[in-house]
Formats: sequence, structure tokens, C-alpha cells
Amino acid sequence: MADIVIKGLTENNLKHVSFTIPKEKLIIFTGVSGSGKSSIVFDTIAAESQRQMNATYPSFVRSRLPKYKKPNVERIDNLTACVVVDQSPLGGNARSTVGTISNLYSSLRLLFSRIGQPYAGTASYFSFNDPNGMCKTCSGLGKVTKIDINAILDKDKSWNEGCVKDSTYKPGSWYWKQYASSGFFDLDKPVKEYSSEEYNLLLYGSRDGKSEPENTKITGLFHKYTRTLLNRDISDKSKHTKDKSQNLITEEECTDCHGKRLNEVVLNCKINGYSIADMCDMELTELREVLSDIFDKNVNMLVQTLIEGLNRMIDIGLPYLHLGRESPTLSGGEAQRLKLVRYMGSSLTGMTYIFDEPSTGMHPRDVYRMNSLLKELRDKGNTVLVVEHDKDVISIADYVIDVGPQAGQNGGEIVFMGSYPELLKADTLTGKALLQSLPIKQQPRQRVGSLPIREANLHNLKNVNVDIPLGIMTVVTGVAGSGKSTLISQVFAKQYEKDIVMIDQGPITATNRSTPASYLGFFDEIRKLLARENSKDEGLFSFNSAGACPVCAGKGVIVTELAFMDPIVTECEVCSGTRYNQEAMECLYKGNNIVQLLALTASEALEVFEGSKIVRHLKVMQQVGLSYLTLGQPLSTLSGGERQRIKLAKNLGKKGNIIVMDEPTTGLHLSDIEKLMILFDMIVSGGNTLVVIEHNLDVIKQADWIIDIGPDGGKNGGEVVFVGTPTHMVQHAKTLTADCLRTSCS
Ligand code: ADP
Ligand code: ADP
Ligand code: ZN
Ligand code: ZN
Repeated sequence: MADIVIKGLTENNLKHVSFTIPKEKLIIFTGVSGSGKSSIVFDTIAAESQRQMNATYPSFVRSRLPKYKKPNVERIDNLTACVVVDQSPLGGNARSTVGTISNLYSSLRLLFSRIGQPYAGTASYFSFNDPNGMCKTCSGLGKVTKIDINAILDKDKSWNEGCVKDSTYKPGSWYWKQYASSGFFDLDKPVKEYSSEEYNLLLYGSRDGKSEPENTKITGLFHKYTRTLLNRDISDKSKHTKDKSQNLITEEECTDCHGKRLNEVVLNCKINGYSIADMCDMELTELREVLSDIFDKNVNMLVQTLIEGLNRMIDIGLPYLHLGRESPTLSGGEAQRLKLVRYMGSSLTGMTYIFDEPSTGMHPRDVYRMNSLLKELRDKGNTVLVVEHDKDVISIADYVIDVGPQAGQNGGEIVFMGSYPELLKADTLTGKALLQSLPIKQQPRQRVGSLPIREANLHNLKNVNVDIPLGIMTVVTGVAGSGKSTLISQVFAKQYEKDIVMIDQGPITATNRSTPASYLGFFDEIRKLLARENSKDEGLFSFNSAGACPVCAGKGVIVTELAFMDPIVTECEVCSGTRYNQEAMECLYKGNNIVQLLALTASEALEVFEGSKIVRHLKVMQQVGLSYLTLGQPLSTLSGGERQRIKLAKNLGKKGNIIVMDEPTTGLHLSDIEKLMILFDMIVSGGNTLVVIEHNLDVIKQADWIIDIGPDGGKNGGEVVFVGTPTHMVQHAKTLTADCLRTSCS
């Protein structure tokens, strides 16, 4: 197998690098965030492979495939087909479950159609997505959504006082007038004093609440909201609309199928006393036992296939899931592992698989299981490329490619290539960091108070009572599926919603033109500096207003519509894609125009903006480990970990906050963890409380207080198995986390 050869690569920050990657090996890419790992693996190898694959299709098909731009590289030879296994969420709707994603549900359906008693039909009858199998009441969703009328109506108020809480109905508005002028309502009477006729008119537009509306002008509020919120796909609507509908809708379990999604005939069909819905409710380990008890020659193969599939999911550390779990509720790490399982079942070989931090969300105890699956994938004759920061994963590499020496303009080179033992001797940030680990915190802080959680029972939690300390850093630990996110991100966050700042890895809900400069709020300051320096108006430095290039109107691109074909998008020739007009571009600050200023990384900008108000913001970017980002980099290009850290940056400098974070070390290089700990220390010293869910042992050692959830995952978790200081944990605790901590200290 000829090696993959890459020559003269200059994508993003890469400095004309050339190297070869051996095939059928497990290759791990290391280096600080922003050094250029993704630029090599995703933007070059994966993109070019996909681009070449797409080029083999006829043009009609091609126009419908995603478009990959040709990477900036002189040559790439011997690429294979690529599969990217990333942490993007799986499936987007309630009809997609762990069972449908893993294909195990279709095997289960086949099993029931063959040997289920009494016989219910062929296999499609067992599908909740098929009209023959679904519960008619909920159309196979297992739950029904209703408009929560109390969230819409303030019954203490009259029309004149604004009884409809929705701002589009405020007194005097167009919608308000439709109702007010109908003549049906006394505008000064509070809704709670309405007769039942009046109330029915308000809600349903008719006096008895059943017949046709009496006046075409007023649709009852209930119908109106049902139509605009329920019977419509709002998945691509704005966050505002989604949030609004979230608040107005209540979800209830379907009373006919009790959440099982299927109709009675199908639910009555059983194997060894279990219906297909029962099997989908079981944890995977339990389902495996139930299936092992089926002894029927006719379905031997089928049962074997099912058990093999379950084994893979269990082995990769997902034994606590059940097939009925809706896939949009899975975490990024769980989604990635499930995708890995799907590919393990494939018989394709000679492929290149690419993973992005597969250890995310995994307890040190479980990482070795994932390691063995990665090796298995390689041993089937595939090339496996992994971007990773976790010590245990890096240690299994056949070959390590270390990118550095630092980030952004100070990175972009390959600083080491070779085996893991060689890496340990290498004079690179990664090599050095691998030999170090942080000490256990000797003098943990004392709490200044605490917030109680009482009798928490969500998901797998077993009547949990625990106090969350205030004024110190608490680390919540436990294996995947033990209940950490349920306890902290759901129960705790919900109970103390008003006091907590949740800093998650989710998309940043700002316009798609947001950049670090605009998001952190110093873009205006840059405009002011330019305006003052050049005696111009600030508006000139905005491509949304006076500064816009006249040809592309500030879009930077020209879109040419073609009949029957996709429009052609080309860079605007006049502004070269910069979006600004000539007058704006001619204004300089210390020799840089607006575009050049936004192209500076935060660390470069520190010098340029010395002495201005901007410095404070740049220092914050440095503190959260994002000094390699340019001021104008679209936030849409950030990874989950980077997003979380820029949200943290926005919240720094405040006092009295309770900050909750889930795996803040995601995407962070070993050498940056120490910096993050210094920052955390500063946050807590500044009078804030930190609660972080973390698997990283260095972070756990630096905690003031540990709350360990376990003893294991799923049904076997959901209890607080230890609370105390790190020292205490190492000395006394008998938990999985304590074992791992002791190993890493010895
Ligand atoms: P890593 O994967 O090692 O964290 P990346 O390859 O993502 O690093 O980034 C390398 C450099 O390229 C960084 O300075 C980053 O800010 C920059 N970069 C990455 N993607 C883009 C992009 N879409 N636009 C502009 N700069 C980018
Ligand atoms: P951790 O954060 O420790 O990995 P979780 O809180 O995500 O654990 O999960 C704890 C248990 O709750 C697991 O059995 C998991 O399958 C279950 N669970 C978590 N979220 C949901 C959900 N949205 N629906 C159903 N079960 C869930
Ligand atoms: Zn139902
Ligand atoms: Zn233009």
C-alpha cells in the first residue's frame, strides 16, 4: 500500500509542509489548539478525498452534493476514500433513536415478525414509522404535544390590560384589534371572570368550543397557536421562535400507547413475554441477556447479529443506553461512539477513518475500550487518523504527527513524527507535557455556603441529595452514563436557573457574521479608533452601512442566479471579498486597514492596540487559551471546545456568578490545561463559584471539592458515591474515579 504523500501544504496556517502518512496504521495528530491539526486532517485530507469522490459523479448528481474547495497544496497522492467520524449530533428528530441509528431496530423487527406470538404481520408492522405499526393517537411519537394555555393567557388581566402574554398581542397592536373589535368581549373584564361561552369564544372561536368559528375574524387562540406552533416544522426557525414555542408547548406521554409508540396489535406480540417496546426500554446489557435466552434454530443468525451489535455498543462504553433513546438527546461524545459502532459493522476495508477527539465524554476507565475498537478498525485494513489530546489514546499510536510549535502564525509546522516512545523524548510542547502531571491540591478552599439539591430522580438518579458548595471549584466526576449531566446540567441548572451561568459547547446564537471582535464587544472600539485616527464617521467601518462595497453591497460575493441550476457564487472583484469600499480601506490605524486589523490574531493585536481599551479583551482571549484566533474569524468555524471557551471569555470579570461547564478541557492541549487551571483559580478568587463536569485527572486533582457519581453507568449509577477533597479521595474512596486518580498519582 503506497503511503499518502502530501507536498507543499499551505492550507490555513500551515507553512508549506510536506510529509507522508503510512497506510493501515493508527496515526495520532497532536499539538496545541490552533496549531493546524484540523487544517491537515479535515480541511486537506478529508476535503480532498471527498472532492475527488464527488468529481467521479455525473454533473447532475454533483450539483446536488456538498461542495469542497480544493485545498491549498501542491500535490496529494494515494488518498483513499475517507469517512469522518465526528461529534456532530445524530439525526435531528424524535423518530430517530439509538435503535434506528444503529440498525439494530430493524433486526429486532425482523425477529418479532418471525417468532413473535401471536403473529402480528410482517416486519414493517413493527415500525413506529410505518402507518401499520404506529400508535394512531401520537403517530408513533410516543408523546403528544399540547399548547399550554396558561403560558399564553394571563387570566387575571383583561384585554385592555394585555391578557395575552405574547407581545404581538399587546393592547393597540394589529392582532389585539382583531379580538378587541369583534364585539364578543368586554375589554375591561379579566379573563377569569368570563362566562364559559366567552371563554370558548376566546380559545376556540365558537360558543360551545366545538362548532365552526362564529366570526371569521377571530380564530380561537388555542387553534391559532396550535397552527403556528404545533403543526409546523420549526426546526429551521430562529432561536427566538424556538424558545418561544418551547415555553408555550407542553409534552405529555401518549395516553394510548404510554410512550411505546406502537399500536396494540403490535404491542401484544411477544417473545418470551417481552414486546418489542419492552426490549427497546431495556438497558443494552439487559437486552443482551434477554436475547441470549432465545433458542430457535430459525432465527439463530439474526439473534447472533443482534448480540454482536449490542456487544460493540457495550464494549465502547455505552451499556447504559437503550434502543428507544432519542438520538438528538445524545451527547456529542456518545454520538461519535455510536457512529464508530456503525462503521465497525461495515465490511469495507482500505478506507481512511478520521476521528475528532474520540475520548470526549469518556472516563479514564473506559478509554481503553475505545482504544481497542480503533485498533480493530485498523486491523481490518483501514488507515485510522485521530486528533487527540488524551494521554492514554496518544499512547496507542503506531505513529504520532505533532503539529506546532505553537498556535496560529506561530504554528503550522510538523515538529515531530515518530513512535510514541520517541515522542516522550521529543523537545515539543506535547512531548514535554506528556511527562508532567499536575499535583493534588494541598490546600483546598473552604466553601462560603451551599445550594442544596434534594430528592433528585430524573433519568437514572436515585433520590439524590447533595449540596453544591459556593465560592469554590467543584468537579463532578463519574463514568459516562453515571448521571453527571442529568444532575448538574439538568436538575441543578433548572432548579437554580436564575442564579446560574451555563457555559456549554453549543452553537453561539448570534448572527452568522459574528467574530471574536463583535461577540466580545470590542469591534465598536476598533471602529472608534479608526474613525478618530482618520477623522471619519464610525459608520464607515461597518460593511452593513456606510462602509459597504457598492458592487456587492457588503456581501463580499456576487451571486449569479441561473435558471434550473444552482446559483454561481463568486468573490466580488471590486473589494476582493473584503466587503468594504475603497474609502474605508484607505483608512489606517498604525499602518493597518480595517481588514488587516481583523486578520490579526489576538496575540498579534496586543501590540497594535497597546494602550487602548481593546487590550483588556485581548488578555481575556489569551487567558481562555484562544490567543491564536484572529479577531475577524467567523465564530461558525470554531470547535465545540473553542466555543465554550469564548463564551467563558465573555463572562469573565464578573462577580458572584455560579458558572457551570461540561468538560471544559475538550479540545485543549495537555500544556494548556495548566493555564486553564490558573484561569479557574482566578475566577474563583474573584468571588465566583465553579461547577465543572470533568474526566481529566489533572483537573480533578486541582478541585477544591469532588462530587463523584456512580458506582457505574445507567441503572447501575445515579448515586453520589463520594464527596470530599482530592486528598481525601485518594486516601479513602473506593470508587472507579478514585482508582484512576490513585493510578495517576503513583
Ligand atoms: P487545530 O486543529 O490544531 O486546533 P486548526 O487547523 O483548526 O488547528 O487551525 C489552525 C489555524 O488556522 C488557527 O490559527 C485557526 O485560527 C486558523 N483557521 C482554521 N480554520 C479557519 C478558517 N475557516 N478561517 C480562518 N482561519 C482558520
Ligand atoms: P453522564 O453525564 O454521567 O454521562 P447522563 O446524565 O448523560 O450521564 O446519563 C445518565 C443516565 O440517564 C443514562 O442512563 C442515560 O442513558 C440517561 N439519560 C440521559 N439523558 C437522557 C434523556 N434525554 N432521555 C432518556 N434518558 C437519558
Ligand atoms: Zn401513542
Ligand atoms: Zn464587493
